[in-house]
Amino acid sequence: MQRPKRKNPVLRTRLPTLPPAARSRAALGLTAAAALGRFELQQCRDCGMVQYPPREACQKCLSIRLDWKPQPAGGELLAQTVLHHSNDLFFRERLPWRLGLVKLDCGPTLVSHLHTEIEDPPSRVHIKAMLDRAGQAVIAALPEKEGSDMADDRQLREFTCDPKQRKVLVTDGKTALGQALVKEIVSAKAELVWVGYAEPWKKFAGFDELEKIPQVTLVPLDVTDSKNVRELAAEIAGKVDIVVNNAEFHRTAGISSRQGVETARAEMDVNYFGLLRLAQEFGPAMRSRGADGRASAVAWINVLSIYALANFPPHGTFSASKAAAHSLAQCLRAEMRPAGVRVVNVFPGPIDDEWNQLLPPPKVAPPALAKAVVGALRDGIEDVYPGDVAQEWLARWRDNPKALERELSA
Ligand SMILES: [Zn+2]
Repeated sequence: MQRPKRKNPVLRTRLPTLPPAARSRAALGLTAAAALGRFELQQCRDCGMVQYPPREACQKCLSIRLDWKPQPAGGELLAQTVLHHSNDLFFRERLPWRLGLVKLDCGPTLVSHLHTEIEDPPSRVHIKAMLDRAGQAVIAALPEKEGSDMADDRQLREFTCDPKQRKVLVTDGKTALGQALVKEIVSAKAELVWVGYAEPWKKFAGFDELEKIPQVTLVPLDVTDSKNVRELAAEIAGKVDIVVNNAEFHRTAGISSRQGVETARAEMDVNYFGLLRLAQEFGPAMRSRGADGRASAVAWINVLSIYALANFPPHGTFSASKAAAHSLAQCLRAEMRPAGVRVVNVFPGPIDDEWNQLLPPPKVAPPALAKAVVGALRDGIEDVYPGDVAQEWLARWRDNPKALERELSA
């Protein structure tokens, strides 16, 4: 893959276009699963039929008892075509475009985007449900055997936010998680990583190691300081392709275990207002670069917490600040979507850091969390729940939020 060309500031900036985003309500089930990186289709509870496209009733027995169930991803490519013309603005700018008809092992036949490395039909393919730039699920067919440069595929890159050859800002390089993120992003071949650090007069553990990485540029960044955020944005917002906001303030406290509101305010100032400041300063510049071809802005990642879904009383005020940040992130997602910039929310369970020392395992190790973040960028996922604790909370929260609330407060 060649490096993207530099943008010519004299030429007209292309406005972002999105792929067709209209879906029926039934079809949103596919999107909900794809947002989590799953491939699910409707399956009839009465006759077991797997069907596609999604409908209100079973096409075989007309039962309305349809469940979204994970399906095997194998299939056979039956036919293919290459589009050289399209009336759709999004695809017109991206022609030629390869499409194919895939017969899934689980039954249905569907139209799918085809990776370049897939051989001519008949051939075996691996199906993936991915979110497109409009945030809706589409079906991509990939080769069964993963090649090393598979992510470089031009069509696939329209659906993913792979850090390769992109410029990334990590907002806090002081924490173990921040440093793990930087290393993971660098090993994913990012071109440049700006790493923010608050209180530049204090040297932090791991500083020298970060400084030695050639792709890394350390920048003073305190997300509680509006002026600082604005100045940094003025300098780099026009170049950042991916923002990873991992700046966090975390103390263990409920309501009655601490006097006053200082700690809670500090948590809100970093976890909630910090995100708001970054979004206000970096958001507009990134939105304006949503259509710069291969060099466009693609993703915004928020490291939230599984406590954003339901309050964990021993970390009560922290949970509240993350719930606020989650709500704001949903607003940011809606605002970034028209430009095709994906907002990825990460909901880890307790991270193995100094503020969770007294919690028993399982805890998410920072390198594992960093891997999950980069994996989400590569796979076109929108919501990430890394680790066993987060997965279990999510399952219980979906099953019955009230029961989870009661359980956590016990
Ligand atoms: Zn049926």
